[in-house]
This record gives sequence, C-alpha cells and structure tokens, in this order.
Amino acid sequence: MILSCTGTSALKNNDSTWARWITTACDLFLSILLGFGLSSLINYYQQRKVKSILQVSTEQIMSKCERKLKFNKHIPQKTLSEFVPLQPYRAIVIRQQTSPVIVNELIIEARKTNKFTIHPYDYKSSGDHYLEIEFLQQSSSIIISIEIFHQQNLLFERIDDFLSIILHPSNMIYTWKDFDKNLIDYQSYQVFLNGDINQCHFVNVQNCFKTWYNTTFGHNQNCNQLLDFNDIDDPLCSCSHRPVKCPTEQWSLTNAIAYTFHQNFSNGSTSSKTCPAITKLFNIIQNNWTRQQIEYFRKQCHINSPNG
Ligand SMILES: [Zn+2]
Repeated sequence: MILSCTGTSALKNNDSTWARWITTACDLFLSILLGFGLSSLINYYQQRKVKSILQVSTEQIMSKCERKLKFNKHIPQKTLSEFVPLQPYRAIVIRQQTSPVIVNELIIEARKTNKFTIHPYDYKSSGDHYLEIEFLQQSSSIIISIEIFHQQNLLFERIDDFLSIILHPSNMIYTWKDFDKNLIDYQSYQVFLNGDINQCHFVNVQNCFKTWYNTTFGHNQNCNQLLDFNDIDDPLCSCSHRPVKCPTEQWSLTNAIAYTFHQNFSNGSTSSKTCPAITKLFNIIQNNWTRQQIEYFRKQCHINSPNG
C-alpha cells in the first residue's frame, strides 16, 4: 500500500513537471509570436513614414523646380521682335498634285548642295505628314515642304530619288532633336526602307545649343546656385536669362530663339520658319558667337524692327 502511494506520487510529480515545461514552451512561443508581430507592425509604420517623407521631399523639389521654370520661362512677348532668318529664302510646297518637273529642278539644286536642315511635322487635323527641308546655300536658301504619300506614279518616284540624294552620307543634315529614322510614314521611300538613312551625318542642333548657350551666357554673380564646382543647369539658379533649370531638360526651339535673339518664333504646323530657325542657331554656334556679338545683333534687329 505504501509502495503504491509512493508510485502514484512520483507519477503526479512527473506529470506536473511536463505540464510546467509545456506551459513554459507555450509562453515562449506566444512571446516570440507577439514580438515578431510587434516588430513587423513597427517596421511597416516606419517604412510608410520614410516613404511619405521621401515623397514629400521629391514633390517639394519638383514643385520648386517647376515654379522656377514657370517663372523664368515667362518672357513678355511685347519685348520680342519678329523672327528674321539669317538669309532670304524661297518656299516651295510639294503635294500630290505637284508637277514632277518641279521636283526634277529641285534634284538639280540638291546635287549642288551638301548641307540641309530637316524638320518633320504633321497637320494634326488632317493627319498629313510633311518633311520640311532647307537647302543651305551661299546667299539664299530654298525651303521645301514635302507631303508624305505613297502612290505608284512619276511624282512619287522623283521624290524618292530626291530624298535619296539629300539623305546621302556625303551631306550634313541639321535637325532639332534626334531625327526619328524609323518613322513608319517614311518607310515607303527607299532611303528609309533600305537603311541608307543610318549612314547619314545628322547634327542635333538642340544638344549643341545647350552647350554653347551655357558657355556664352553664364550665371549672374548673385545667382542662388552654388557655383563653386559646376555651373550646369540647376533648380537653385535664379538667373532669368537661363530658363532651363534641370540638367536633363532640353530647350524648345521657340525659347532658344527668344532667349538668344529676343525674337518671337512660333513653330506652328503651317509655318515654314522651323528650318530657318534651326539653321540660324547652328550658324551662330558654328561661328562661336560671343555674348557681345549676340547683344550687338539684338540691338541692330531692334533698331531695324517696325516697332523699334
Ligand atoms: Zn544662375
């Protein structure tokens, strides 16, 4: 009987030890689970806070940049005189009804020319595509607007030859922005279709202009930008004559003409002034005009303008 009681007591002790172990293990597991849950919650809210701080900061920088761009891009139109090309030009439009004889005459002129400015444009209302081409010649220019079309007739064949002569590796082609050689609308012409366009020498005047302008028209002495180590475009710049405030931003052709020559150029779709504007900018970049030369040119234009 005594033995039996001792055995029962030992069994009870064993059970209570197991129960304590199980309870402790459960407590430990619950504590780990709780800790993990709390830490995940804290991490989540911290990440949200960091994200919102970053977002606010980015928005503040962008809005500051945009505010400065808006402020600085405003040049009162009344202070601008009318755009004047460097030299007089003759404008010719080639449409589907144009006589092939005219294109034949232009082919003769194109063979005598090795510098061209090109600008593709569309009429948004009709969806028609045009290619504006300026022949850069000694004393005057020829500006041709070609309607892009595809028909099996003599005119199309002559335009096809004409484009192959102009877009030839022996010529220099000036553009504003990179010329899109893969435009589907031009693929009916041989020079685009057979890939010869890739051998052409294109000069992106927009890129050259940015470098020339920033070198020629430096920051003012009291500019807010920190100029100790660089003078690139920056949102902190407070110079009104430098409207581009972000290093990645590019100049529009309208602003390039306005800020350089103080002339009002609007490159509307019906205008044939786009090529002369690109040509005019490239000419001053090529001849490395100084600030003094530009300022003298502006004064002369102002004196000669009807409102001057
Ligand atoms: Zn500045």
